[in-house]
Amino acid sequence: MGLFHPVWSASPSSFAGHVTSLTCSMMFKLQNHGGNCLKNNKFLLFQSPLVKQRSKLSCSSVGNEDSTSISRSIREDPQSYISTIQPSDARILYYAAPAMGHNKEAHPECNRRVPAIIDALEKSELTSKFRGSEVTELQNIRSATVDDIASVHSRAYITGLEKAMSKASDDGIIFIDGSGPTYATATTFQESLLAAGAGISLVDSVVITSRIREDPPVGFALVRPPGHHAVPQGPMGFCVFGNIAVAARHAQLVHGLERVLIIDFDVHHGNGTNDVFYDDPDVFFISTHQSGSYPGTGKMQEIGSGEGEGTTLNLPLPGGSGDGTMRTVFEEVIVPAAQRFKPDIILVSAGYDAHVLDPLASLQFTTGTYYMLASNIKQLAKQLCGGRVVFFLEGGYNLQSLSNSVADSFRAFLGEQSLAPKFDDPAILYEEPSKKVLEAIQKVKHIHCL
Ligand SMILES: [Zn+2]
Repeated sequence: MGLFHPVWSASPSSFAGHVTSLTCSMMFKLQNHGGNCLKNNKFLLFQSPLVKQRSKLSCSSVGNEDSTSISRSIREDPQSYISTIQPSDARILYYAAPAMGHNKEAHPECNRRVPAIIDALEKSELTSKFRGSEVTELQNIRSATVDDIASVHSRAYITGLEKAMSKASDDGIIFIDGSGPTYATATTFQESLLAAGAGISLVDSVVITSRIREDPPVGFALVRPPGHHAVPQGPMGFCVFGNIAVAARHAQLVHGLERVLIIDFDVHHGNGTNDVFYDDPDVFFISTHQSGSYPGTGKMQEIGSGEGEGTTLNLPLPGGSGDGTMRTVFEEVIVPAAQRFKPDIILVSAGYDAHVLDPLASLQFTTGTYYMLASNIKQLAKQLCGGRVVFFLEGGYNLQSLSNSVADSFRAFLGEQSLAPKFDDPAILYEEPSKKVLEAIQKVKHIHCL
């Protein structure tokens, strides 16, 4: 197939030692997967035996739940549920869940984030008020159910968080995890269910529309609290529920989309998503993040385990990496990995904290980098999976660079010209560590036989 350069089939030499390397026979297995539920873009409106089997596996891994207890009504009769979902004629479908009650003064993950984005979209004339049905905010979304969340998180965590709401109500604010720090207020539980539900509803609408149109809308969940650090057993790093992981499971279990590609370009490693799918061969998790940044996981050698060996790709980037780096990474790593995996849908953990102006890290992405990522990922989805792609807001703490970058992402989805030159100041950028970057790219390509 032309994918395997002979050098990758040899035993490691320049990277010998502790580096784990996939053999090309493993890669061959990955490439020649069977049981794809999509044939000629026609959907199976029922669960395949494979998907049913996974449902049991995933339940046992998150707290010994009986598979029948997970979203009983929806998952026992997905066809009835699917029949209620309306296709959309939009080109961008988004939902804004600002979680106004989930807030802490002076905390970077504050309730001004989503309104800042909406304000920028309005000012840029990128909302339905200016674009009609081209850009639509999804109506009638549902909050995620406890069963939806339990496809990813343990029930002990979910019920514990719900119970903690009365204390949060008494105290005003509580800390639910020390490492972030992650806080909760009286409304955190309900607002987190809404954030996860928005992702599910966007997946529903994008998938259903893709049955009747070759160019379904790009979905964008402008939600908080974010999700990619939340681990199966609890919250972490400002994140409460793994919104993207919940949506991935929903896509598999309800829509029969077997293979999900998750691209996470937040500056931090999406350790929660990584952990949920670490042994799952049907969810390919690709994360680029700043080397050495919070939470310290996501080493290149972490490639998945068991059946899932090879379907986790972690690429830590040296501090100072920027636009040039990410363009090369996209072309040389993300595209070939995605092409080999052949996803049925792409979900994106869109963190905007790798921007040069972001206060929490030190990569040098620009507004133009986010435009490129949005445009290229949309194109990749068109090539590989009928255009099915949904973005999920993760980090991004400089309100200006966050909101400008999301607005430019919207322009990319619409195929309109980037306004990045208006916002990006080349004078504040310094030279990217290109030698270290190229070494990292070569190493990850070697490990994953790309
Ligand atoms: Zn982040």
